[in-house]
Amino acid sequence: MTAGGLSIRGLRVVFDGFVAVDGVDLDVAPGDIRFLIGPNGAGKTTLVDAVTGLVKASGSVRFGETELLGRDVHRIARLGVGRTFQTAALFEELTVLQNLDIAAGAGRGPWTMLRTRRAVPDDVAFALEAIGLAGRRDTLAGTLAHGQKQWLEIGMLLVQNARLLLLDEPVAGMSHEEREATGELLGKIAADRTVVVIEHDMDFLRRFARTVTVLHAGKVLSEGTVAQVQADPKVQEVYLGH
Ligand code: ADP
Repeated sequence: MTAGGLSIRGLRVVFDGFVAVDGVDLDVAPGDIRFLIGPNGAGKTTLVDAVTGLVKASGSVRFGETELLGRDVHRIARLGVGRTFQTAALFEELTVLQNLDIAAGAGRGPWTMLRTRRAVPDDVAFALEAIGLAGRRDTLAGTLAHGQKQWLEIGMLLVQNARLLLLDEPVAGMSHEEREATGELLGKIAADRTVVVIEHDMDFLRRFARTVTVLHAGKVLSEGTVAQVQADPKVQEVYLGH
């Protein structure tokens, strides 16, 4: 298991001559949550794609002692790096518990998928509790509320033993109550993990973000507390001033 924080140096991603990420440095300490904001096209998704091995990049991305750049996407996942996308990727016709079992199953073998009433392993029980779905373990994932689907996806990362979680707009489309629950969930999972969250929702950021990094045109434009970045004239000009 890899422990430790995320340390990005000089990250650069070029698509056919277009520089989407242009020399980004970013440090996220273990146990911390970093929120990434920035206008559309700023490079947020591409940065996450580079960290998770989906796109080629240059520079350095270290998670703990391990250099991630140059490794393939599956190897990076096995090193404890997990991500969610804006649309939850679940097995809709299976239950919450079966989804978690499948996520956990890579290390356990196919029989976990056949479980009916046997004991729930500790890590799955922990995830069910953390994501607030312990009472819904036998509910079909496809019938969950939007927010619950997002939480289940986070739970799937937890049972995969992700130590670095990269989440793409986890509260988009959520009700106020779901946002509050998500903020609390993020705090819980970050206690002993490193978390990076792409999020636009300023109310949510004001409520839950300690440190925000603003990207613009592939570069870090500003970094600090929500109040600090909101007060930064550069940020007001390119982002909040819209
Ligand atoms: P954000 O997530 O901040 O909205 P993206 O990382 O999606 O921004 O995109 C950054 C820039 O890179 C955009 O200008 C986008 O059009 C471009 N881009 C993203 N992916 C590709 C790709 N596969 N090929 C070419 N250009 C891309």
